[in-house]
Amino acid sequence: MGIEYIYAVGDRLCSDEQGQWLFSTPCFNHKQALEIYDLTLVPEQQVRLVVLPENEQGALSPSRGLRQLLSESEEQYFPLLSRAAQVMTWSRDHLYCPRCANALTHHQQDLAKQCESCGLTQYPRLSPCIITLVIRGEYCLLAQGIRFTEPRYSTLAGFIEAGESAEDALVREVREEVGVEVANIRYRCSQSWPFPHSFMLGFFADYVSGEIVPEPGEIVDARWFHYSELKNTPIPPGFTISRQLIDAFLKQYESNGG
Ligand SMILES: [Zn+2]
Repeated sequence: MGIEYIYAVGDRLCSDEQGQWLFSTPCFNHKQALEIYDLTLVPEQQVRLVVLPENEQGALSPSRGLRQLLSESEEQYFPLLSRAAQVMTWSRDHLYCPRCANALTHHQQDLAKQCESCGLTQYPRLSPCIITLVIRGEYCLLAQGIRFTEPRYSTLAGFIEAGESAEDALVREVREEVGVEVANIRYRCSQSWPFPHSFMLGFFADYVSGEIVPEPGEIVDARWFHYSELKNTPIPPGFTISRQLIDAFLKQYESNGG
């Protein structure tokens, strides 16, 4: 099994005219690469990320954007695209040692950078977040965030703060964003989310009390949706963990025959 290659320039992954971004043969002489990272996730598929200097991408072009790339690619490619994007962003944003300001160099063994002056090692950054579908019988709570690029209802999410457990963060975020209290928190699944380096821990939670009050400056609208309404509601695309939580909620009604 040969090695496959992904190319990046600046903050963009590259694709060819057909929209292809994963190549089974090298498109370039890799001597000109700024960095080469091993992105291999499973032993059967060896993958390298090759970071090229600006304007050295030849026949490839920096893609229209990661969201576009993700929505056009098959879902099975999400982990690899997510990993490539996160490593690319981290590599570009970590050129110097945060402790002593020396230039960082490629780590000998790990997917990391090191400071040869003070010995600090920098690994690709991951920021843990909770994401949750709040359930109230046959209804679930979805909200439209102020930063959404299109009108869409999604699950609630937020960063876990220093010292907090995921469960504490979930209760706090739901209280802040929509003003309701939740309990019976159940872990469902996780997803590495490359915008730009979040790690989403997905949960279900049950409604306990309170009326919905959208947080000003964060939430445009938040509502209870009956499961039968969801097929006519703009919700996130299939590759998102938000959609996976919503689909899992819906599934219990499908199996009950509607
Ligand atoms: Zn240093």
